Amino acid sequence: MSELLEKAEKALAHDLCDHCLGRLFAHVDTGLSDRERGESIRMALQFTRVMEDKDSLPPHVKCSVCDDIFEMVPRFADSVVERLQGLEFDTFLIGTRVDPLLAEKEEHLWSEVGQDTAETIKAELNQEIGKAVQARIPQEVEFATPDVVALVDTRFAHVDIDISPLFVYGRYRKFSRELPQTRWPCNRCRGKGCEKCHGTGKMYQTSVQELIGDILLAAAEGEDHFFHGMGREDIDARMLGSGRPFVLEIRDPKKRHIDLADLQQKINENGKERIEVEGLRSSSRDEVRQIKQDSPQKEYRAQISVDGKVNKEKLDEVILSLKHTRITQQTPTRVAHRRADLARVREIVDLEVEAFDGEDLTLRVRTESGTYVKEFVHGDNGRTTPSLSELLGVPCSVKALDVIAVFDQ
Ligand SMILES: [Zn+2]
Ligand SMILES: [Zn+2]
Repeated sequence: MSELLEKAEKALAHDLCDHCLGRLFAHVDTGLSDRERGESIRMALQFTRVMEDKDSLPPHVKCSVCDDIFEMVPRFADSVVERLQGLEFDTFLIGTRVDPLLAEKEEHLWSEVGQDTAETIKAELNQEIGKAVQARIPQEVEFATPDVVALVDTRFAHVDIDISPLFVYGRYRKFSRELPQTRWPCNRCRGKGCEKCHGTGKMYQTSVQELIGDILLAAAEGEDHFFHGMGREDIDARMLGSGRPFVLEIRDPKKRHIDLADLQQKINENGKERIEVEGLRSSSRDEVRQIKQDSPQKEYRAQISVDGKVNKEKLDEVILSLKHTRITQQTPTRVAHRRADLARVREIVDLEVEAFDGEDLTLRVRTESGTYVKEFVHGDNGRTTPSLSELLGVPCSVKALDVIAVFDQ
């Protein structure tokens, strides 16, 4: 008798269903389902017994490993289909939670006959329920990034649905100097509403995130939104030029086929004079990672007030000396409460005087990612060095700042 049949013979000392028998040999041949394989092994064994004039195998009554749980697969599939109703998705995946007692019985069988060619009952249930669901709905099973995961608890035929977030990429411009990039809860009540925030729960009435996210969230019928920007500008800085890349994440979307061109128009009408978005398209968690990792150079236009006597020659000399210079910035006083106190070295890539009348200076500066431009101008009491103010020998301050370009790939 072959090794395989010997092993099967040993396993069938217990009453096993075809699934549990076939599953012991899942990696022997993968062309059949576990049930088909179990059935053919049982037949081969039966045949051998007849040939050898032995008693035939006892009839299958109840599986000693799974209690014939696979007979429940159609019911599990019905529960999944019912729970998926009303959701918009293209791909799905089945997961199962199996009674630990059942997994224990399976391990016990493995310890008797070996598990080198076996797969787990959980894996088979996932496949079988997946096949049964796929036969009932037009959507496809997908392993890597399914839109929804249906988790079946096989003890109670209870189904939990996990909906993957929806990711939307775009670029935004910001025209307001009173608008934070992300939602900013009130620092006293943390969002509940108090006297300080007039019951709104917020430090600022709205944000770039909310102006974009609220509209997308409503269309996708989601639960909440999260904003992933490629860096951020200060609240009082405008974001101009071709805008800043972002990915908006919507949790638990009931709808995924949303019309982004139409929604872009809605966002821009509603956000008029505050923000504008362009190039909305569907995105992914991978792109969020890329956006967070990218550290693009940026170009700024700074309106600077020069508080002292400086002539044009002196200014030109200082500007020239600052090109391609590395500056050292100790964490600015204004952000010290939320950032570690570190010295960072940043490159001033390029700078150019656009206008200067002895008092008001308009400067265009291109910097390495992470440069504190205001501090580069005023010096932050010596915490940034060299600074424009330090080299000119007079106090300088930024009156207005715009980001005019983000040089992402
Ligand atoms: Zn079984
Ligand atoms: Zn409050």
